[in-house]
Amino acid sequence: MVTEEKCRLCQKHNLLQKSHIIPEFFYKTLYDKQKYDVLSTSPEQPNRRFPQGIYEKLLCGDCETHLSKYESYARKLLIGGINIDSMRDGDFLFLSEIDYTAFRLFQLSLIWRAGISTHSFFSNVSLGNHEDKIRELILSNNPGLTWQYGCFMIGLLADDVLLTDLIIQPERLKHQGDTVYRFVFGGFVWIYFVSNRTPPIQALRAFLNPAGNIPILMKNIENLKDFETLAVKLFQTSKL
Ligand SMILES: [Zn+2]
Repeated sequence: MVTEEKCRLCQKHNLLQKSHIIPEFFYKTLYDKQKYDVLSTSPEQPNRRFPQGIYEKLLCGDCETHLSKYESYARKLLIGGINIDSMRDGDFLFLSEIDYTAFRLFQLSLIWRAGISTHSFFSNVSLGNHEDKIRELILSNNPGLTWQYGCFMIGLLADDVLLTDLIIQPERLKHQGDTVYRFVFGGFVWIYFVSNRTPPIQALRAFLNPAGNIPILMKNIENLKDFETLAVKLFQTSKL
């Protein structure tokens, strides 16, 4: 028997679909290589294998379609299909001409879904009263202001190739009193500032801005030990 449940985004009762938390296309390189590099709580722990992306019944069909627009944009931006301007300067890759609304709402929908997920993989993501604020932004197609839930992105390279076959369980960290969440997928570290106050200026400059610009710190890592060192030093970068 099929029952209607409350959609987590529009909050109407409807038949819910299985939604992924991290979009399926970010798992593709893992499937292609038959390689499930890291899906564990920490690089020191043995890897756990998940046969597929993590799915959960969260959204109605309309809301799933609504979010898929942002995902589609993110896929084209990060994997290919949209030509945008990029310039490499030292450790930074400066991207411009990004659709602020579409990419911001992709970033917001990602952390929001992780926050409402009951799957153990996302258990470190607990957004409290921010959960509903982010839900309202997504539902009204409002990308919000640069500083609100801004996301600092770091590109992970191995031999100068983006390390797309690495997914690490999200972590909740503290940075100068602010709560930040660190996600690793799609070749990037995604660091979200979840706070009511404006993040530090260094972080603010690294967020996507309404003009469509974002600087991405590109880092070569040899192994996961390097990643841990990088994770500790994330905020010590002085260039931003
Ligand atoms: Zn809905």
